[in-house]
Amino acid sequence: MSLILADAWVITMNARREIWERASVLVQGDRIAGIGTRPSLEHRNPDARVLDCRDTIVIPGMVNTHTHLFQTLLKGLGDDMPLKQWFTCMTGPSAAVLTRADVHAAALHGCVENIRSGVTTLVDFMYVHPVPGLGEQVVRAYQETGMRGFVCRGFINAGADLGVPVPLIENAAAALADARALINRHNVPGARVRVGLAPCMIWTVDAAALRATRALADETGALISTHVSETAFEIAHAQQHYGMTDTQVLSELGFLGPDVLAVHCVQCGSADIGLLHAHDVKVSHNPCSNLYLASGVPPIPAMLKAGITVGLGSDGPASSNNHNLFQAMKFAALMQKGFHRDATIMTAEKVLEIATIDGARAVGLEADIGSIEIGKKADIAVVDCVDPFMTPLHNPVSALAYSALGHEVRTVLIDGRIVLENRTMPHMDEGAIRRGAQRAADGLAVRAGVAGLRQRAWPMRVM
Ligand SMILES: [Zn+2]
Repeated sequence: MSLILADAWVITMNARREIWERASVLVQGDRIAGIGTRPSLEHRNPDARVLDCRDTIVIPGMVNTHTHLFQTLLKGLGDDMPLKQWFTCMTGPSAAVLTRADVHAAALHGCVENIRSGVTTLVDFMYVHPVPGLGEQVVRAYQETGMRGFVCRGFINAGADLGVPVPLIENAAAALADARALINRHNVPGARVRVGLAPCMIWTVDAAALRATRALADETGALISTHVSETAFEIAHAQQHYGMTDTQVLSELGFLGPDVLAVHCVQCGSADIGLLHAHDVKVSHNPCSNLYLASGVPPIPAMLKAGITVGLGSDGPASSNNHNLFQAMKFAALMQKGFHRDATIMTAEKVLEIATIDGARAVGLEADIGSIEIGKKADIAVVDCVDPFMTPLHNPVSALAYSALGHEVRTVLIDGRIVLENRTMPHMDEGAIRRGAQRAADGLAVRAGVAGLRQRAWPMRVM
């Protein structure tokens, strides 16, 4: 099967960052096989199907380096609350009553949101397991929607005294045994969906479990993701229990390494940044979530200056309210400009890099994805410019970083397969997925006792 995406702006994200106008991309099987003019590609591939991509921007599919897909069901339930209340009154109680059907419905709908906004690689961080088998439900959703990426089997094994619901606290050995089984089942050579590890954070995972996670990663080669220095509370807790920051604790434990994707790093100081760089730790930046939860502004410019690889994430919809990396790009740029009062500190080009090629590097897939180059996997998003929000268009990078809202994504390929075409998912019943997510969300909110949380602000009644 050959396909030509014809006559588009092509933002390659190759080493020279070349952008081609009226260019065409040839896809053969699961790979990018050519970049050239439409006549030349058509002449050499007369049997190829041609998709007219005039007035579009073709980009490498974006890499969403952090989400919690189960939180798709919690969208809008925890708005405008302090973080502690957000967790103990909404997210925690909801997570404690999750079922396998809930997680499947949430993950399917979350994958739809990601694909519809141009994401082709996703890192899910599944740290709540009140019942067994939830990690497998997320893997299933990736397989059904065609998503590429990682399902990180996370866990919590401490923190009851700090408000973590008891059903969420696992025995670390059992959690890691489940992770090992998932890794053995799914991490086969060439797999599109791989399983990783995800100890939740410093105050919900003890030192022995962190060491055991590192040992399992060394043995299996699995990616590790963990939340680092998201809030001042984490720093204070680590100081109180270990006499140092959480980054320093992780370093002392021998946990840090190039296979670690550290999420947030909002409160990291210069010594922490030095440690992250020294261990070649990758950082997942989630600007919408950091602002939504009032966690703060992470020192991303300092990390970039130090040479740390930074990828972009949406975070779970309980603290970002959607999966949309276009929003995340804009917030990533604007939060730093405003905070530093320096309009040059984070550019459109940089945020597009962290959403694509740098994200690919952050998850160790830069040889295969993150740019449009011959030989790479055909993970591609086609963004429509015939749209009021994209008009007028002078510079396609600016249009993507600052003008696009996400709905402009018209067509998406993952592994050379069309998973979205003309804004329709050819292999999925999106209506059924959406209704399933709403039904699951309604049921979960009632069971968790959080259904009324958002209705209390203003009176809402059925007419
Ligand atoms: Zn998170």
